[in-house]
Amino acid sequence: MSVPQNPTSERQLIDRFGRVHNNLRISVTDRCNIRCFYCMPADKVQFMPRNELLSFEEIERVVRIGTTLGIDRVRLTGGEPLVRRELYRLVERLVRVPGIVDIALTTNAVLLGEQAQQLKDAGLKRLNISLDALDPEIFRRVTRRDSYDKVIEGIAAARAAGFSPIKLNAVSIKGLTEDQIIPFAELARETDTEVRFIEFMPLDADNQWERDKVLVADDIVKILQAEFGSLVPEPSANPNAPANDYRFADGRGKIGMIASVSQPFCSTCNRFRLTAEGKLRNCLFSLEETDIRGLLRNGGAFAEVADAMLSCIAAKNEGHQINSGVFTQPERPMYSIGG
Ligand code: SAM
Ligand code: SF4
Repeated sequence: MSVPQNPTSERQLIDRFGRVHNNLRISVTDRCNIRCFYCMPADKVQFMPRNELLSFEEIERVVRIGTTLGIDRVRLTGGEPLVRRELYRLVERLVRVPGIVDIALTTNAVLLGEQAQQLKDAGLKRLNISLDALDPEIFRRVTRRDSYDKVIEGIAAARAAGFSPIKLNAVSIKGLTEDQIIPFAELARETDTEVRFIEFMPLDADNQWERDKVLVADDIVKILQAEFGSLVPEPSANPNAPANDYRFADGRGKIGMIASVSQPFCSTCNRFRLTAEGKLRNCLFSLEETDIRGLLRNGGAFAEVADAMLSCIAAKNEGHQINSGVFTQPERPMYSIGG
């Protein structure tokens, strides 16, 4: 459990289970330039009208209020955050917010070639790139787009801009990405790249998720051990980190597993989410939301927004119910929540 980041404040984002929330994931758009099948529908996507999205000023206001309750790190996400025009200007604003110690971004990297340096210059500290396959054909099957070369270009631009190490997140799908695991591990062993495999979660738009399609972390570890010998668990410096990290026994390279389905890490969750149109969600799998945009646009005072945040966290459930018989998939798919 992390220590409250703002010990001078009497009001903290602590839920009924004692979890301290200091990490806000901010979706800046629900639009995307590719169509990963585990996230978006193939076509006919209904995007939010632009005037419904929070402006950069509004996002900054939410973050400023959040810092008085202990938020000290934010991650920008989406949809694809880099399709939001001049995203670097939001980074510049958030860097200046007192109390914010870390700003990160999750991106599919398609537009990173054009934006990596700008984002670095704006003060972006960390970057996670989502790439599920090193084979262009499998990439195309997952994303339903031919943007592989742009992604590779984007990764190179991130390296050139000084983001180090490069962190890659790969969603693992049974029957589709097994033979990508060894090439990803080789990349992690041979270059300054950290790779984390993510289990496929029931958050897809087409409701195609099935337990049988989840390539679980234990199976990935077995595939890796058959090739490289034993993996050595590496204790995380951050108790709230969702990944279980491992080092290869010969000391070359590191690999992580985000086993959201088979080994849920809800008990150490310190995260909550702001959707692109200003709804707060205390969990990816939450079935309820708290409207912040309405408060902001109707002249809501600082204290009202802070109260709404506190209530949202107070209502958080102990964990997701994917492994129980009572799980209900949220109506919103991942791209519209903000992953
Ligand atoms: N577009 C950006 C990207 O793909 O990095 C940011 C948003 S995306 C929703 C954030 C992360 O969620 C990505 O790493 C993506 O692979 C992951 N994701 C999306 N749908 C998922 C699902 N059903 N299960 C597991 N991870 C998922
Ligand atoms: Fe777009 Fe990211 Fe969803 Fe893929 S995972 S469709 S890149 S938002």
